[in-house]
Amino acid sequence: AYRFFLPEMTARATRRLQTEAELRRAIEGGELILHYQPQVAAAGGTVGCEALVRWQHPERGLLAPDQFIAFAEQSGLIVPLGEWVLREACRQQVHWRASGFTPLTMAVNISAVQFRRRDFVARIKHVLAETGADPAHLELEITESALMDATPELVARFEELVELGLTLALDDFGTGYSSLSYLKRLPIGRLKIDRSFVDGLPDNPEDVAITSATLSLARDLGMDVVAEGVETDEQRRFLRDRGCEAMQGYLFSRPLAVDAFTAWVEMHAANPP
Ligand code: C2E
Ligand code: MG
Ligand code: MG
Repeated sequence: AYRFFLPEMTARATRRLQTEAELRRAIEGGELILHYQPQVAAAGGTVGCEALVRWQHPERGLLAPDQFIAFAEQSGLIVPLGEWVLREACRQQVHWRASGFTPLTMAVNISAVQFRRRDFVARIKHVLAETGADPAHLELEITESALMDATPELVARFEELVELGLTLALDDFGTGYSSLSYLKRLPIGRLKIDRSFVDGLPDNPEDVAITSATLSLARDLGMDVVAEGVETDEQRRFLRDRGCEAMQGYLFSRPLAVDAFTAWVEMHAANPP
Protein backbone atom coordinates (compact mmCIF):
# COMPACT_ATOMS: atom_id res chain seq x y z
CA ALA A 1 0.00 0.00 0.00
CA TYR A 2 1.03 3.59 -0.36
CA ARG A 3 -0.26 6.78 1.19
CA PHE A 4 0.08 10.44 0.46
CA PHE A 5 1.95 12.42 3.02
CA LEU A 6 1.40 16.10 3.70
CA PRO A 7 3.52 18.20 6.02
CA GLU A 8 0.27 19.39 7.71
CA MET A 9 -0.23 15.83 8.89
CA THR A 10 2.79 15.94 11.17
CA ALA A 11 1.85 19.44 12.27
CA ARG A 12 -1.61 18.20 13.21
CA ALA A 13 -0.29 15.11 14.98
CA THR A 14 2.21 17.22 16.89
CA ARG A 15 -0.53 19.60 17.96
CA ARG A 16 -2.68 16.73 19.15
CA LEU A 17 0.15 15.27 21.20
CA GLN A 18 0.87 18.67 22.66
CA THR A 19 -2.79 19.26 23.61
CA GLU A 20 -2.96 15.80 25.10
CA ALA A 21 0.13 16.43 27.23
CA GLU A 22 -1.28 19.79 28.34
CA LEU A 23 -4.65 18.34 29.31
CA ARG A 24 -3.01 15.49 31.19
CA ARG A 25 -0.95 18.03 33.10
CA ALA A 26 -4.13 20.04 33.79
CA ILE A 27 -5.91 17.02 35.29
CA GLU A 28 -2.96 15.95 37.42
CA GLY A 29 -1.65 19.39 38.25
CA GLY A 30 -4.73 21.13 39.58
CA GLU A 31 -5.59 23.36 36.59
CA LEU A 32 -9.21 22.18 36.49
CA ILE A 33 -11.83 23.90 38.59
CA LEU A 34 -15.54 23.45 39.10
CA HIS A 35 -18.15 26.15 38.84
CA TYR A 36 -21.59 25.59 40.32
CA GLN A 37 -24.88 26.74 38.87
CA PRO A 38 -27.88 26.89 41.21
CA GLN A 39 -31.07 24.98 40.49
CA VAL A 40 -34.06 26.69 42.01
CA ALA A 41 -37.53 25.40 42.86
CA ALA A 42 -40.47 27.02 41.08
CA ALA A 43 -41.84 27.68 44.56
CA GLY A 44 -38.59 29.44 45.56
CA GLY A 45 -35.42 28.25 47.26
CA THR A 46 -32.24 26.64 45.98
CA VAL A 47 -32.63 22.88 45.63
CA GLY A 48 -29.43 21.84 43.94
CA CYS A 49 -26.54 22.77 41.75
CA GLU A 50 -24.82 21.52 38.65
CA ALA A 51 -21.04 21.15 38.72
CA LEU A 52 -19.51 22.46 35.47
CA VAL A 53 -15.84 22.02 34.75
CA ARG A 54 -13.46 24.78 33.59
CA TRP A 55 -9.79 24.69 32.70
CA GLN A 56 -7.66 27.42 34.18
CA HIS A 57 -5.06 27.35 31.41
CA PRO A 58 -1.76 29.05 32.32
CA GLU A 59 -1.51 30.87 28.95
CA ARG A 60 -5.00 30.82 27.44
CA GLY A 61 -6.99 31.79 30.54
CA LEU A 62 -10.22 30.21 31.74
CA LEU A 63 -11.46 27.71 29.14
CA ALA A 64 -15.09 26.58 28.85
CA PRO A 65 -15.91 22.86 28.45
CA ASP A 66 -16.72 23.22 24.73
CA GLN A 67 -13.03 24.04 24.22
CA PHE A 68 -11.72 20.75 25.64
CA ILE A 69 -14.41 18.15 26.46
CA ALA A 70 -14.70 16.83 22.88
CA PHE A 71 -10.92 16.46 22.71
CA ALA A 72 -10.90 14.74 26.10
CA GLU A 73 -13.50 12.28 24.80
CA GLN A 74 -11.55 11.50 21.61
CA SER A 75 -8.29 11.01 23.46
CA GLY A 76 -9.73 8.97 26.32
CA LEU A 77 -8.63 11.61 28.85
CA ILE A 78 -12.31 12.12 29.70
CA VAL A 79 -11.97 9.10 31.99
CA PRO A 80 -9.47 10.64 34.45
CA LEU A 81 -11.02 14.09 33.87
CA GLY A 82 -14.52 12.83 34.65
CA GLU A 83 -13.28 11.06 37.72
CA TRP A 84 -11.57 14.24 38.94
CA VAL A 85 -14.86 16.13 38.47
CA LEU A 86 -16.87 13.50 40.34
CA ARG A 87 -14.39 13.37 43.23
CA GLU A 88 -14.18 17.14 43.52
CA ALA A 89 -17.99 17.51 43.43
CA CYS A 90 -18.36 14.80 46.10
CA ARG A 91 -15.71 16.46 48.27
CA GLN A 92 -17.51 19.77 47.97
CA GLN A 93 -20.82 18.16 48.94
CA VAL A 94 -19.19 16.62 52.04
CA HIS A 95 -17.53 19.92 52.92
CA TRP A 96 -20.84 21.79 52.68
CA ARG A 97 -22.57 19.21 54.84
CA ALA A 98 -19.79 19.35 57.46
CA SER A 99 -20.02 23.15 57.60
CA GLY A 100 -23.80 23.11 58.10
CA PHE A 101 -24.58 24.53 54.65
CA THR A 102 -28.05 23.92 53.13
CA PRO A 103 -28.14 20.35 51.76
CA LEU A 104 -28.21 20.59 47.97
CA THR A 105 -28.34 17.94 45.30
CA MET A 106 -25.08 17.90 43.39
CA ALA A 107 -25.48 17.15 39.69
CA VAL A 108 -22.41 15.90 37.81
CA ASN A 109 -22.11 15.47 34.03
CA ILE A 110 -21.01 12.05 32.88
CA SER A 111 -19.74 11.51 29.34
CA ALA A 112 -21.06 8.55 27.33
CA VAL A 113 -17.42 7.45 27.03
CA GLN A 114 -17.17 7.12 30.82
CA PHE A 115 -20.56 5.55 31.17
CA ARG A 116 -19.91 2.81 28.63
CA ARG A 117 -16.84 1.53 30.45
CA ARG A 118 -17.20 -1.78 32.16
CA ASP A 119 -15.72 -0.50 35.44
CA PHE A 120 -17.98 2.58 35.60
CA VAL A 121 -20.13 1.47 38.55
CA ALA A 122 -17.04 0.29 40.45
CA ARG A 123 -15.41 3.72 39.95
CA ILE A 124 -18.52 5.48 41.25
CA LYS A 125 -18.60 3.23 44.32
CA HIS A 126 -14.92 3.88 44.88
CA VAL A 127 -15.35 7.68 44.80
CA LEU A 128 -18.40 7.50 47.10
CA ALA A 129 -16.47 5.40 49.62
CA GLU A 130 -13.36 7.54 49.39
CA THR A 131 -15.15 10.87 49.87
CA GLY A 132 -18.04 9.81 52.09
CA ALA A 133 -20.48 11.68 49.81
CA ASP A 134 -24.21 11.12 50.29
CA PRO A 135 -25.63 9.37 47.20
CA ALA A 136 -29.12 10.63 48.09
CA HIS A 137 -27.85 14.09 47.18
CA LEU A 138 -25.95 13.05 44.07
CA GLU A 139 -27.29 13.10 40.55
CA LEU A 140 -25.50 11.82 37.45
CA GLU A 141 -26.39 13.61 34.22
CA ILE A 142 -26.10 11.52 31.12
CA THR A 143 -27.08 12.34 27.56
CA GLU A 144 -29.10 10.31 25.10
CA SER A 145 -25.88 9.35 23.31
CA ALA A 146 -25.05 7.11 26.29
CA LEU A 147 -28.25 5.16 25.63
CA MET A 148 -27.91 4.46 21.94
CA ASP A 149 -27.81 0.76 22.55
CA ALA A 150 -29.85 -0.05 25.65
CA THR A 151 -28.39 -3.55 25.97
CA PRO A 152 -29.33 -5.71 28.97
CA GLU A 153 -25.87 -4.96 30.36
CA LEU A 154 -26.54 -1.24 30.18
CA VAL A 155 -29.96 -1.63 31.80
CA ALA A 156 -28.34 -3.61 34.62
CA ARG A 157 -25.76 -0.83 35.04
CA PHE A 158 -28.52 1.74 35.47
CA GLU A 159 -30.22 -0.41 38.05
CA GLU A 160 -27.00 -0.89 39.99
CA LEU A 161 -26.47 2.87 40.09
CA VAL A 162 -29.97 3.51 41.33
CA GLU A 163 -29.48 0.85 44.02
CA LEU A 164 -26.56 2.91 45.29
CA GLY A 165 -29.16 5.56 46.10
CA LEU A 166 -28.26 8.18 43.52
CA THR A 167 -30.43 9.71 40.81
CA LEU A 168 -29.97 9.50 37.07
CA ALA A 169 -30.94 12.52 35.03
CA LEU A 170 -31.26 12.72 31.26
CA ASP A 171 -29.47 15.86 30.10
CA ASP A 172 -30.39 17.83 26.95
CA PHE A 173 -33.56 15.73 26.69
CA GLY A 174 -35.01 15.64 23.20
CA THR A 175 -31.90 16.81 21.34
CA GLY A 176 -30.21 13.44 20.70
CA TYR A 177 -31.30 10.07 19.46
CA SER A 178 -34.56 10.21 21.36
CA SER A 179 -36.30 6.93 21.79
CA LEU A 180 -39.14 6.95 24.24
CA SER A 181 -38.70 3.25 24.88
CA TYR A 182 -35.70 3.87 27.13
CA LEU A 183 -37.88 5.99 29.41
CA LYS A 184 -39.88 2.84 29.93
CA ARG A 185 -36.96 0.49 30.46
CA LEU A 186 -34.45 2.58 32.38
CA PRO A 187 -34.77 3.94 35.92
CA ILE A 188 -34.36 7.61 34.99
CA GLY A 189 -35.41 9.93 37.81
CA ARG A 190 -35.24 13.28 36.12
CA LEU A 191 -35.48 14.90 32.70
CA LYS A 192 -33.59 18.07 31.88
CA ILE A 193 -35.47 20.13 29.30
CA ASP A 194 -32.86 21.48 26.92
CA ARG A 195 -32.14 25.18 26.62
CA SER A 196 -32.96 25.09 22.90
CA PHE A 197 -36.64 24.41 23.75
CA VAL A 198 -36.81 26.91 26.61
CA ASP A 199 -35.34 29.57 24.36
CA GLY A 200 -38.52 30.23 22.36
CA LEU A 201 -40.94 30.29 25.31
CA PRO A 202 -43.59 31.58 25.58
CA ASP A 203 -44.11 32.71 21.93
CA ASN A 204 -42.74 29.97 19.70
CA PRO A 205 -45.54 27.39 19.21
CA GLU A 206 -43.14 24.49 18.58
CA ASP A 207 -41.19 25.19 21.76
CA VAL A 208 -44.44 25.54 23.69
CA ALA A 209 -45.66 22.20 22.34
CA ILE A 210 -42.39 20.38 23.07
CA THR A 211 -41.93 21.71 26.62
CA SER A 212 -45.59 21.14 27.51
CA ALA A 213 -45.46 17.59 26.17
CA THR A 214 -42.21 16.88 28.03
CA LEU A 215 -43.69 18.18 31.28
CA SER A 216 -46.79 16.03 31.01
CA LEU A 217 -44.79 12.99 29.89
CA ALA A 218 -42.49 13.35 32.91
CA ARG A 219 -45.42 13.84 35.26
CA ASP A 220 -47.22 10.74 33.97
CA LEU A 221 -44.03 8.67 34.17
CA GLY A 222 -43.39 9.89 37.71
CA MET A 223 -40.16 11.70 36.83
CA ASP A 224 -38.90 15.06 38.01
CA VAL A 225 -38.08 17.82 35.58
CA VAL A 226 -35.62 20.67 35.51
CA ALA A 227 -35.68 23.28 32.75
CA GLU A 228 -32.31 24.56 31.59
CA GLY A 229 -31.34 27.92 30.16
CA VAL A 230 -34.10 29.98 31.78
CA GLU A 231 -33.15 33.56 30.98
CA THR A 232 -36.34 35.62 31.25
CA ASP A 233 -39.14 36.06 33.72
CA GLU A 234 -41.69 35.15 30.99
CA GLN A 235 -39.98 31.79 30.53
CA ARG A 236 -39.96 31.23 34.30
CA ARG A 237 -43.66 32.04 34.63
CA PHE A 238 -44.64 29.89 31.66
CA LEU A 239 -42.73 26.90 33.06
CA ARG A 240 -44.01 27.39 36.60
CA ASP A 241 -47.63 27.64 35.40
CA ARG A 242 -47.24 24.33 33.54
CA GLY A 243 -45.93 22.57 36.62
CA CYS A 244 -42.17 22.60 36.04
CA GLU A 245 -40.80 22.19 39.55
CA ALA A 246 -37.16 23.20 39.08
CA MET A 247 -35.20 25.57 36.86
CA GLN A 248 -31.69 26.59 36.09
CA GLY A 249 -30.45 29.53 34.04
CA TYR A 250 -28.91 32.95 33.82
CA LEU A 251 -32.15 34.52 35.14
CA PHE A 252 -31.17 33.10 38.53
CA SER A 253 -27.41 32.86 38.21
CA ARG A 254 -24.57 31.93 35.91
CA PRO A 255 -22.31 29.10 37.03
CA LEU A 256 -20.19 30.51 39.88
CA ALA A 257 -16.86 29.71 41.53
CA VAL A 258 -17.40 28.01 44.89
CA ASP A 259 -17.16 31.08 47.14
CA ALA A 260 -19.46 33.17 44.97
CA PHE A 261 -21.87 30.23 44.82
CA THR A 262 -22.12 29.78 48.59
CA ALA A 263 -22.58 33.55 49.00
CA TRP A 264 -25.34 33.47 46.37
CA VAL A 265 -27.20 30.64 48.12
CA GLU A 266 -26.96 32.35 51.50
CA MET A 267 -28.14 35.67 50.12
CA HIS A 268 -31.13 34.02 48.41
CA ALA A 269 -32.04 32.04 51.52
CA ALA A 270 -32.18 35.37 53.38
CA ASN A 271 -34.26 37.16 50.72
CA PRO A 272 -35.87 34.83 48.18
CA PRO A 273 -36.48 36.32 44.69
P1 C2E B 1 -24.90 21.04 30.07
O1 C2E B 1 -24.61 19.91 30.99
O2 C2E B 1 -26.18 21.01 29.33
O3 C2E B 1 -24.75 22.34 30.97
C1 C2E B 1 -25.48 23.52 30.79
C2 C2E B 1 -24.70 24.55 30.04
O4 C2E B 1 -25.58 25.65 29.77
C3 C2E B 1 -23.53 25.15 30.83
O5 C2E B 1 -22.52 25.52 29.90
C4 C2E B 1 -24.16 26.41 31.43
O6 C2E B 1 -23.23 27.42 31.73
C5 C2E B 1 -25.05 26.84 30.29
N1 C2E B 1 -26.18 27.66 30.75
C6 C2E B 1 -26.82 27.57 31.93
N2 C2E B 1 -27.83 28.46 32.00
C7 C2E B 1 -27.83 29.13 30.83
C8 C2E B 1 -28.65 30.19 30.30
O7 C2E B 1 -29.58 30.69 30.93
N3 C2E B 1 -28.36 30.61 29.04
C9 C2E B 1 -27.34 30.10 28.31
N4 C2E B 1 -27.13 30.58 27.08
N5 C2E B 1 -26.55 29.09 28.79
C10 C2E B 1 -26.80 28.62 30.03
P2 C2E B 1 -21.01 25.13 30.09
O8 C2E B 1 -20.61 25.24 31.54
O9 C2E B 1 -20.23 25.86 29.07
O10 C2E B 1 -21.02 23.58 29.74
C11 C2E B 1 -21.31 23.15 28.45
C12 C2E B 1 -21.43 21.65 28.37
O11 C2E B 1 -20.17 21.02 28.65
C13 C2E B 1 -22.38 21.06 29.40
O12 C2E B 1 -23.72 21.18 28.97
C14 C2E B 1 -21.91 19.62 29.46
O13 C2E B 1 -22.44 18.88 28.39
C15 C2E B 1 -20.42 19.77 29.23
N6 C2E B 1 -19.73 19.66 30.53
C16 C2E B 1 -19.53 20.60 31.49
N7 C2E B 1 -18.87 20.09 32.55
C17 C2E B 1 -18.66 18.78 32.27
C18 C2E B 1 -18.04 17.69 32.97
O14 C2E B 1 -17.56 17.81 34.10
N8 C2E B 1 -18.00 16.47 32.32
C19 C2E B 1 -18.55 16.28 31.09
N9 C2E B 1 -18.48 15.06 30.53
N10 C2E B 1 -19.14 17.27 30.40
C20 C2E B 1 -19.19 18.51 30.98
MG1 MG C 1 -25.56 18.96 32.38
MG1 MG D 1 -28.01 20.31 29.30
